[in-house]
Amino acid sequence: MATVAGGMHSAAILVAVIAACALGCGQRATTTVATDAPTREIYLADAKEKQTVFKAGAASAVVTPPMGTHIAGDAKNRRFTGIHDDIFAKAVVLDDGATPVAFVAVDCIGLPYPTVQRIRRAAVEKLSGITLPEERIIVSSTHTHAGPDVIGIWGPDETTSGVDPAYLDHLVEVAAEQVAKAAAARRPATLHVAETESGEGWVVNDCEPGEVDRSVVVLQCLDEAGVNIATLTNFACHPTCVDGTVSEVSADYIGAFYKEMSALYPGEHLFLQGAIGGWIQPITPERTFALAEDYGKRFAADVLAAMDQMNPVDDTTMRFANKVFTIPVANEGFKQLSALGIVDRPMGDTVETEVAWIAIGPVQIATHPGETSPIHGWKTKELMDSGPKMVVGLGLDELGYILKPEYFDGDTMPHAEYLVSMSPGPEAGPAMMTALESIIP
Ligand SMILES: [Zn+2]
Repeated sequence: MATVAGGMHSAAILVAVIAACALGCGQRATTTVATDAPTREIYLADAKEKQTVFKAGAASAVVTPPMGTHIAGDAKNRRFTGIHDDIFAKAVVLDDGATPVAFVAVDCIGLPYPTVQRIRRAAVEKLSGITLPEERIIVSSTHTHAGPDVIGIWGPDETTSGVDPAYLDHLVEVAAEQVAKAAAARRPATLHVAETESGEGWVVNDCEPGEVDRSVVVLQCLDEAGVNIATLTNFACHPTCVDGTVSEVSADYIGAFYKEMSALYPGEHLFLQGAIGGWIQPITPERTFALAEDYGKRFAADVLAAMDQMNPVDDTTMRFANKVFTIPVANEGFKQLSALGIVDRPMGDTVETEVAWIAIGPVQIATHPGETSPIHGWKTKELMDSGPKMVVGLGLDELGYILKPEYFDGDTMPHAEYLVSMSPGPEAGPAMMTALESIIP
C-alpha cells in the first residue's frame, strides 16, 4: 500500500515537475526525480511546503470628512461645503511568505509621523493570521489640497488647530481597518511592473524648470485568474489643480485617475506620491475641476498605455529595512506650532521621523518623510542597485519641504521664502539621505 501510494505520488510529482519545467524551470529537477524518485519525493514535498507563494490583498474605504471640516492647503479658515469626489484610505498587503509589507495611501495633505504610528498600532491590533510588524506598514499621503486639515495649520485662526479630533480618530481607524482587510483578502498572486513617463505639457517645476522627474512606475498584482487585485502607481506632482478655489472634497487629478483606472480594472488603485517639493506642480491656467479631470485622464492614459506591456516579476522575494532618526529643526515657526499645540507632535531642536526601504525581487521602493526636491529622488534612486525604482514622498511622515541647500542661501531661489517657511531647515535633506544610505544595501 505504502509502495503503491508512493509510486503514485512520484508519478504525480514527476508530471508536476515536467509541467513546471514547461513553464520555464531548469533541467535539474527533472533529472533528479527520474534517477532517484523515492528520496526526492520527500525532498520535493518538503520543498513544496517551504516554497513561498506570493500573495496580495487589497482594500479601501471612503474617508471623506464631514461638511464644515477645515480644508488643508492654501489659506486658513476654509471649510468644506460639498463633495466633488470622495477621498480614500487604500491598503495593499504584499506577502512573499516571509516578509510581508503593507502599503497604505491616504488622500490627504499629509499624515504626520505620530498619526502614521497610530495607524500602524491600530492596524497590528486588528490583524490575524499574519505576522506583520508595525514598521512594515508603510503609510503615505497623496497630498491633495482639497482634503481635510490633518496637521492643524489651516484652522480658524493663528492659535487654533484646524484638525477635527473625532474625524482624525475615524481616519486612523478606517485606514488601520483597510490593512487588516487587505491582509485577510490576500490570495496567490503574480506581480507585474511597467515603467513610463508622464507630465509632459502639464507638470512643471515652478522653481527650477529643468528639474523634473517624469518617471512613472506601475506595479500590478493579478490573482490566479488574471484578475487585478491592486495597482500601485508612483509619480510626482502636486494635486493642486483646484487649490484654494473650491470648498468641495476631492482627490484632485488623482480622483480622476482613480476613476479611469477603476473603469478598466477591478480591485484597488493606489497612488504613491513622489518627490514633489521644490516645487513640482501642475500647470494651472485655471483652477477648476475640469482641469483636474483633464490631467487625471492624461495621467491615466499614460499609465494604462504602459500597462499594455507589463513585465512579470518572477522573483518576488521581499526585503525590508527601516530607520527611525532625528532631523534638526531650524524653523522657529515649526517649534512654535508644536509648543502651542496647533501641531500635535513634539518639535524642539530636533524632530523624530523615519525612512523605509522595501524590495520585491528587483523592484525597490524608498520613502521620503515629506515633500522632497527631485534631486533627493534621483539621489535615492542612485542608491538602489536594481530597478524599477520608486521614491514615495510623504511616506511615513509629512515634515513639509525638504529642500536643496541653495534654498536656504538668502532669497536666490524662486519661492524660497515660502518654501523655507514650510521646511524644518537645511539639515533635513542631509539627515534623510544619511538615514537612507544606512538602510539601502
Ligand atoms: Zn505641497
